Amino acid sequence: MLVAGNWKMFKGPGETEAFLAAFEQPAGVEVVVCPPFVSLAAAVKGASVKSGVAVYAQNAHWESQGAYTGETSPEMLVELGVTGTLVGHSERRRLFGETDETVGRRARAALGAGLGVIACVGETLEQRESGDTELVLKIQVEAIGFAAGEHERLMLAYEPVWAIGTGRTATPEQAGEAHAFIKGLLDRPVLYGGSVKPENTAELLGQQGVDGALVGGASLEPDSFAAICRAAASIS
Ligand code: PEP
Repeated sequence: MLVAGNWKMFKGPGETEAFLAAFEQPAGVEVVVCPPFVSLAAAVKGASVKSGVAVYAQNAHWESQGAYTGETSPEMLVELGVTGTLVGHSERRRLFGETDETVGRRARAALGAGLGVIACVGETLEQRESGDTELVLKIQVEAIGFAAGEHERLMLAYEPVWAIGTGRTATPEQAGEAHAFIKGLLDRPVLYGGSVKPENTAELLGQQGVDGALVGGASLEPDSFAAICRAAASIS
């Protein structure tokens, strides 16, 4: 089981340091935190004291350097001590123009530089309601598989867009079905993401094919994140 906390655009270096000083990591679960870029160095430092917490970025470019204002390369992340990155989060796809092609390129480059990758996929409410969930997942997952293959450091995260930050979660059955479908396309571990909270972790992660969680809002407080990690550890 792996539990990753996506902090989005929350927590500067000071708050990152304070979080890692307060966070009690339970045994029996792999834990990842994904702070904003400016807080990665503080997180790497804090995580070296709390052994076992891995630090991932929230995105990485596909080139190692160049004229790409605002971007960060996988090699730069490696130099900082970061061990992985998210790619293809729905907020990147929806708000910042990420496409299946750029997500695939980012995943391939990050893996090539030695990073772990959590590649996010998921359907919108409109796509689910029109019966297109599997079609959308197939297009997204195959783009990642085409670019990166069944790489040993690649994980996927199934994050139904309608469940992110909304308080609505997929039912355990919906999550189980989507995870089985994704694994049938690309045989890699799949995390569930979308309003995961301490109260619903055990039920969601207890589903066959759910290999952990990608947590947004509930990863921002050390106590709630630790409670989710404990619930995950009790399943594994
Ligand atoms: C996310 O941003 O990846 C996420 C799952 O957010 P939340 O847990 O807040 O729904």
